[in-house]
Amino acid sequence: MKNSFKEDVEKALAFHGHLCSGQCIGVKMARLGLELLGPEVEENRRRLYVYVECDRCPADAIMAVTGAHVGKRTFKFKDFGKIAATFVDAETGTAFRILRKNRRHPAEGEDMISFYENLPDEEIFQVQRVSVDLRPCDMKGPLVEAQICQRCGEEVTDSRHVVKDGTVLCKACAGEGYYKIL
Ligand SMILES: [Zn+2]
Ligand SMILES: [Zn+2]
Repeated sequence: MKNSFKEDVEKALAFHGHLCSGQCIGVKMARLGLELLGPEVEENRRRLYVYVECDRCPADAIMAVTGAHVGKRTFKFKDFGKIAATFVDAETGTAFRILRKNRRHPAEGEDMISFYENLPDEEIFQVQRVSVDLRPCDMKGPLVEAQICQRCGEEVTDSRHVVKDGTVLCKACAGEGYYKIL
């Protein structure tokens, strides 16, 4: 790895705003993910896509360490409520899902950063070889398609529309909405 654990924690801290165990776990996960995918991906982050299954502290650390961003489409947030992330090499399709299987905390007064740095990965993480269906409409590059929702008239890009009984709908109109218009 190019950066030391401490350097990556500092990077995460600058982005997240405070040091917490979630930052250390996220940094550890990101480093393990990059290590598993190998040096070619570490040096060419354009190949890297990351799926993160929680919107808590570790998500920020994973973003900061990997450089994956929502706006670049390389960071996919899945609201599963799990401390887990999948690291994908878009060029080869190789993918590893890393799950935090055990909670481990430093003892009272122990240095948090060195505790997590020295904690063996296999003590807190479970690693799975997985395959991820990364479609052209999920990747960076030009817009794949744009459809108009036949109920609200709003435009839906990148194949995020739904077809119900032959009608093109946006996800909100299809019942997946998170807001109500007042
Ligand atoms: Zn935090
Ligand atoms: Zn709609």
